[in-house]
Amino acid sequence: MICSTPAFVLKTYDFRETSKIAVFFSRDFGKVKGVLKGIRRDHKKFSSVLSALSLNHIVFYQKRNSEIHLVSQCDLVDDFGLFRGQLQAFRSSNRVIEMVDLLLPLEDPQREVFDLIFNFLNTLKNNPHLAPVLFQIKILALSGFKPRFDSCVICESRIVQSAYFSHSKGGLLCPHCLRRDPLAEETLPGTIASILYIEKSDWSKSLRLQFSPPIKKQLEMILNCFFYFHVGKKMKTVHPDLDVLDA
Ligand SMILES: [Zn+2]
Repeated sequence: MICSTPAFVLKTYDFRETSKIAVFFSRDFGKVKGVLKGIRRDHKKFSSVLSALSLNHIVFYQKRNSEIHLVSQCDLVDDFGLFRGQLQAFRSSNRVIEMVDLLLPLEDPQREVFDLIFNFLNTLKNNPHLAPVLFQIKILALSGFKPRFDSCVICESRIVQSAYFSHSKGGLLCPHCLRRDPLAEETLPGTIASILYIEKSDWSKSLRLQFSPPIKKQLEMILNCFFYFHVGKKMKTVHPDLDVLDA
């Protein structure tokens, strides 16, 4: 079957002498893998250099008995001016790639995830600190790992005022259950409210939010811990000395 769709490049690697394999996140087929034969021998064969997170229009032959399809056409649509001397944008984009790659299975079409990557890229230039936080909250919800930030993970009572984030329990504790993990960290009043607001608001409305640096720092800590606890994998792109300190 011949398939045609817009698709973001997630990553590429060399294959045999002259080819590359690319992993795309496409609008119509979800995450797909394809081989671009001869791209390293003839650089003009495809009109795209497959930059990370560039948007391309791809045509591929879907193989039934292999997860690697044959890409016959890959035309650049937009590279979003990424990575030109912007270290923060580079780091956030790498993290977005890693999350999409880890959280989403192959060939499971999710139009909302495609739109989410598009919104992230369009926001990144003007709002490099907010875009990755919004992306992370929304991708966790879309991929089924919806964080529960309105109730205690132990007694399930509704969080009213004070809440404590427990690394070992992977969620929030109410004051009553704090004794179950005395190392849990008290959350700032704006942190949980921000997460709940972003979860229920669309992208453009969420962009109106403003965080103080301590709230942003706590948000990122909570989201990264949540990711590690529930997904079971530590993101390679999260380093203790990065991100938060850039703010
Ligand atoms: Zn509780």
